[in-house]
Amino acid sequence: VLVKADHVKVYFKGKKRGQTVKAVDDVSFEIMKGETFGVVGESGCGKSTLGRTLIRLQQPTEGHIYLNGTDIAGLKGAQLKEMRKEAQIIFQDPSACLNPRRTIKQILMEPFEIHNLKGKIDVDAKIMELLQLVGLDSYHLSRYPHELSGGQKQRIGIARALALEPQIIICDEAVSALDVSVQAQVLNLLQELKEKLGLTYFFISHNLNVVYQVSDRVGVMYLGKMVEIANYDQLYEKRYHPYTEALLSAIPQVDQEEQKERIHLEGEVPSPYDPPSGCHFHTRCPKACDKCRQTAPELKEVAPGHYVACHLYE
Ligand code: SF4
Ligand code: MG
Repeated sequence: VLVKADHVKVYFKGKKRGQTVKAVDDVSFEIMKGETFGVVGESGCGKSTLGRTLIRLQQPTEGHIYLNGTDIAGLKGAQLKEMRKEAQIIFQDPSACLNPRRTIKQILMEPFEIHNLKGKIDVDAKIMELLQLVGLDSYHLSRYPHELSGGQKQRIGIARALALEPQIIICDEAVSALDVSVQAQVLNLLQELKEKLGLTYFFISHNLNVVYQVSDRVGVMYLGKMVEIANYDQLYEKRYHPYTEALLSAIPQVDQEEQKERIHLEGEVPSPYDPPSGCHFHTRCPKACDKCRQTAPELKEVAPGHYVACHLYE
């Protein structure tokens, strides 16, 4: 186990007085070393907040995150800095996190500067190595971000995330802003790097199709809760949660025989400021009953390693 999230809650104050947003509401799961744990959910379900919390860009309101067995909440100073090397993040919009006034070389230099590694290691050689890893070369060193394509910028974002040789990378909608063909190239690159460097990914996307392509295990989030967790094969065989079923029915299948009848969800995702009572999904669930409106279902193991939070399986 590389990361363990134990009853993690992240609450924010709402705009109105006394209002609380339960962005992440009592979530527990583990990420194994070397796996890609994919998280899918609509916007506002708390997946990005969860990703940030896993690497302490956000402190949990309650609960614990363990990285290699160490609770990261209490880390300070040098220990915190060491932890930051092990866990990196890649965002959706690479332009937003690449300083437009700095060259690619300067940008790739940043992690080494922050961690005082200049002079201790051969940074120039390391930067060349990083560029090669992501399929770019020395030609790009003196370029500025605006001179690169979207895919190239995301490659730089990946190179920078790799600079300090992390164990885990949070990919937050890492390919969502890219054209479909470029998306596939970047996904392939991530897969290659994972094998070559023994990386672990926490892969966040609103797009189940993308999550499905890259993940060993998948967690489905709805309004701050993890509603289903299973490995890829299990989920392919059987989805238990009505929300997962609906998400999957929207993916076109290559094999016509396999094509599921599309389940249309009623209405929009409710506001996280005021989530429905009981099971948060009851306002849109085709199978909701009275109990669903009153009591929140707990995440339970329905088959080995396959967890579901739904009253239908209790
Ligand atoms: Fe639907 Fe009820 Fe299951 Fe929630 S608990 S997903 S409302 S059947
Ligand atoms: Mg997000």
